[in-house]
Amino acid sequence: MLTNEELLEKYELTVGIECHVQLNTKTKLFSGVSNDAKNAEPNTLISPICFGLPGTLPYLNKEALRLAIKAGLALNAEIALYSKFDRKHYFYPDLPKGYQISQYDEPIIKNGYVDVQINSEIHRIAIERAHLEEDAGKLTHPSGADYTLVDLNRAGTPLLEIVSKPDIHTPAQARAYARELYLLMKYASVSDVDLYHGNMRFDVNVSVALSGSKELGVRTEIKNLNSFMNVEKAAAYEYLRQSGLIERGGKVVQETRGWDDAKQKTFSQRSKEEAHDYRYFPEPDIPPVRLDRKLIEEIKSQMPMLPHDARIFLKDRGIKEENIEVILDQPKILDLIIQLPKGTSNNIYVRAANWLSNEVQRVISENNFDIDKDLNLTAENLLRLSDMIDDGSISFTASKEILETIVKKDVDPKKIAEEKNLIQISDNGELDRIIEEVIKSNAQAIDDIKSGKQEAFGFLIGQVMKKSRGRANPGLVSKILKEKIK
Ligand code: MN
Repeated sequence: MLTNEELLEKYELTVGIECHVQLNTKTKLFSGVSNDAKNAEPNTLISPICFGLPGTLPYLNKEALRLAIKAGLALNAEIALYSKFDRKHYFYPDLPKGYQISQYDEPIIKNGYVDVQINSEIHRIAIERAHLEEDAGKLTHPSGADYTLVDLNRAGTPLLEIVSKPDIHTPAQARAYARELYLLMKYASVSDVDLYHGNMRFDVNVSVALSGSKELGVRTEIKNLNSFMNVEKAAAYEYLRQSGLIERGGKVVQETRGWDDAKQKTFSQRSKEEAHDYRYFPEPDIPPVRLDRKLIEEIKSQMPMLPHDARIFLKDRGIKEENIEVILDQPKILDLIIQLPKGTSNNIYVRAANWLSNEVQRVISENNFDIDKDLNLTAENLLRLSDMIDDGSISFTASKEILETIVKKDVDPKKIAEEKNLIQISDNGELDRIIEEVIKSNAQAIDDIKSGKQEAFGFLIGQVMKKSRGRANPGLVSKILKEKIK
């Protein structure tokens, strides 16, 4: 029997990922019905087109096309000037039409790539294709019931299915790729990327083969993972399961598997269909799509900043890698850094980045913030707060207290500092008076300093800080004390 480590040494992992991204159009892919199913009652956002009733004609949503082009550009891919739609047939209660309109042999996006970084090493993962297709409805199986509920609100929602090449060779790479796709779709603003509501779903194809062998093993597909962590876990689980199975003389069966989160295991669902089982044929009701290069150029010229450029922007300003990744997860936080005025020094960028990836994150999670609504921090206030440290009017500790308030409310940090009595006493006159008092009432300490006991100096500073209720500028106190004792 090999240990797990020996197994993973002996066998090599190969993973390819298919990701379904829900596009954030106003209406569905082939009908004018609302695409915003989040707050709708079941089966209220449907039209005869969603059922494919006889006599209905689907028509392509132009906005979905634009978003697909945007996504393709974010994936460094070719946008096909000619693409077409096909019917993919299967029977399932969430698909009353009996077929899904998808793109088979002429997808809109081809040959892209995504770079992922793990421990400062870059891995390039090729994108084979991405195609537009409609989503199916949703089935709910109430526990204990002998029936299943069908909600067709989601039927006809536009999806972009992004298919990677099998370029992924560790579970960590699988996770990093899933997260990078998420960031790309978020920054390109083609999707709401709400993982909890299934806006992005990952199907992970896993096979193993003897290390160094050129042929790929039989693969299994783990369907419908909706977190980066589960992508990693499912790949790691299958890696061990398949290697162990082969090692014991067994054979991996080509099949679709699910991920059981409670048991942290994959489980067999059904044997995998081959493409010919779907009887693909061209969709007769939708003409092929012929794109104008001008449209692609126009969309290209309006592309927002993508994660790659954001990383470079932050790195150039001296911000630490770990902070960069925290900041990237929240475009609104990134915006705060980008909005700092030109010419801001790197010290200030680094200080702001530290606040944003530590204290601000703490406030966000403790208050369960909806970043888009509840975060009212502005770049101006960040800068003002930073200036107050630099001109000595507040201490660094006080800045964190002020931050707590200006994260929630757009108010001048100076006002908060005054209200909370956090302004440092940098006025020599007032400090002078406090220091004189401290010296007078601590004659023993003064004698000790004069006889060389330096600890007594620290004690005196402490006394001054105490008397000023923490508002004295410690640097200034030390300087004045030294002069006076001399
Ligand atoms: Mn699909």
